[in-house]
Amino acid sequence: MVVVHLKEEEFKRFYVSCINKSVCKFCRRENQKLFLKGDRCFTDKCSFERRPYPPGQHGQSRLKFSEFALQLREKQKTKRYYGVNEKQFLLSFKEADRKKGETGANLLSSLETRLDNVVYTLGFASSRREARQLVKHNHFTINGKKANIPSMQVKKGDVVEVREKSREMNKVMAAIESAARREMPTWLEADHKAFKGTLKDLPKREDVTVPVEENMIVEFYSR
Ligand code: SF4
Repeated sequence: MVVVHLKEEEFKRFYVSCINKSVCKFCRRENQKLFLKGDRCFTDKCSFERRPYPPGQHGQSRLKFSEFALQLREKQKTKRYYGVNEKQFLLSFKEADRKKGETGANLLSSLETRLDNVVYTLGFASSRREARQLVKHNHFTINGKKANIPSMQVKKGDVVEVREKSREMNKVMAAIESAARREMPTWLEADHKAFKGTLKDLPKREDVTVPVEENMIVEFYSR
C-alpha cells in the first residue's frame, strides 16, 4: 500500500476540490444547472456544460420516470438549489401549508426569504453555500442586530448589512464585484457602497426565477 503524505495546504486544496466535484454531481443528477459554485458556474469549467447528463454508468441511457419519481426529483432539485436539508425543507413545507394562499408559492417565498438566500441574492456572497458559511460566522446583521442563523426569515422592510469588521473580506469584495453580472430582483434593493440591502416586498411567484414546478412538490408531500 502506498501512503501519500500531504502538507496542510495541499490537503485543504484536495478537500475543497472533492467537495466542489460532489456538488456538481447534483446539477448533473437533476439535469439542470443549480449554480452551487458561484463564479465557476458561469464559465466553461462548469461540469454540467461539459457533461450534461446524469452521472453513473446509465447516465446517458433514456430512462422513463414514474409520476412519483418525477415529483421526488422536483423536490430534491429545489432542496439542493437552496441548499436546505430534508428536515428543514419539510418544516418549510408544513409552514407554507399552514399559511393562507397557495402552498407551493408560499414555500418558494419562504425559501427565497431565508437569510442565506437573501445574502447571496443581494450579492454579498458568491453562492448560497458561501452565504450560509458567512452568516454562520457572524458577518451579517438584520436591522443592526446579530443574525447568524442561515434559515432566519427576512421580513418586509428588514435591512441586511455586512458587519463593519467584515467589509474588507476578500470573499465579500469578490462577491460584490461579480454580483454586477446578476440581475437584482425587484423585491430586493442593494446598496453595495453601504454594504447593505433591504427586502422591499415579499417575493411573489412570478418574482421567483427558479425553474421548479412547485405543484409537484405539493403532490409529493400530499401522498
Ligand atoms: Fe458545478 Fe456547473 Fe452546477 Fe455550478 S452549475 S455547481 S459549476 S455543474
